[in-house]
Parts: sequence; structure tokens; C-alpha cells
Amino acid sequence: AETDTLPAIATRREEATGFFQKLVSKGLGWARKNSLYQYPFVTACCGIEYMSLASARYDIARFGAEVPRFSPRQADLLLVVGTINCKQAPILQRIYEQMADPKWVIAYGVCASSGGFYDNYATVQGIDRLIPVDVYVPGCPPRPEQVLDGLMLLQKKIQDQEHKLIDRASPKLASGR
Ligand code: SF4
Repeated sequence: AETDTLPAIATRREEATGFFQKLVSKGLGWARKNSLYQYPFVTACCGIEYMSLASARYDIARFGAEVPRFSPRQADLLLVVGTINCKQAPILQRIYEQMADPKWVIAYGVCASSGGFYDNYATVQGIDRLIPVDVYVPGCPPRPEQVLDGLMLLQKKIQDQEHKLIDRASPKLASGR
């Protein structure tokens, strides 16, 4: 319209762009939360419950997270299952760095979450000393229902965060190890 001023047009354009970005973000969030490709970093007895989680009875496929990838480059969910000792720490960090963004981490069981009852010089007292953690699942080992509950928490977190079609942020450099 003739009465439109340049600032008014700019504001409307910004609103339209913001609306479109929110729509894209919601759509990407929905797609990502329902198609998680997990990398199971299994080190100890929690792995037995992990097998149960993957079985038909608990059916993690309902959440779109049933496919394990054994290359970090093909995974966006790192499941740290079991005790992490100090010798394994650089390996876990390396695996995390090799995963592409966006990526998420679940500490599976009390050992991964806090070291558990291995309060000693050889055990990492929680993987959050090494890498960022999105969800902590307690238990020794956790029941599959607890892990699924943690997975649903993560899905909510993924849906709520901002997603972009193209992330123009400069790529993070690996630590050089
Ligand atoms: Fe084993 Fe318990 Fe540690 Fe899991 S939390 S790895 S079951 S000791």
C-alpha cells in the first residue's frame, strides 16, 4: 500500500522470516527426535540391560531410536553404557568429537552418571567431566523403562531447542589429539 513506510515493511518481513524459521525449527525438531541414530559405547554390565532395551519386549523402535550405528560419523545419540575408566576417557572424548552436530548424550546408569560405587583413582567420576551430557539415567543397572523415560526426556529437549536448515556457525576444531 502507498501508506507503507520502509520500517513497517522491514518489520513485516522480519516477522514473516521469524515465523518461517520457527516452522522449520519445529519440523526439524520433530524429525530429529523421532529418528535418533544411537552409538552404544558399552563398557560394562549395564550392557546386558541395554540388550534388553533393544529387544522386542521394550521395543525402542516405538521411539525411532532402534538402529545402532557403530561409526560415530553416522550417529547423533551417544549412549554411554557402563563404567568409564581413566584409560578410556580420551577414547570417549574422541568418539564424541567425531560425531557431527547436532548430537546428544545419555549417561546410561549410575557409573556413567557419577562413577557409581567405583569411587577410586581409576574411574571417571561421571562422564560430564569429559563431554556434555543431556540426560542422566540413574540405576545399577537402570531398568529399560527408566532408559525409555530418559529417551522421552531427551526427545522433549530436542523438540524444544532451535534447529536450523543450515548452521552458518564456524565449525568447531577438534582438540588436535
Ligand atoms: Fe554395572 Fe551398575 Fe555400573 Fe551399570 S551402573 S555398569 S550395572 S556397576
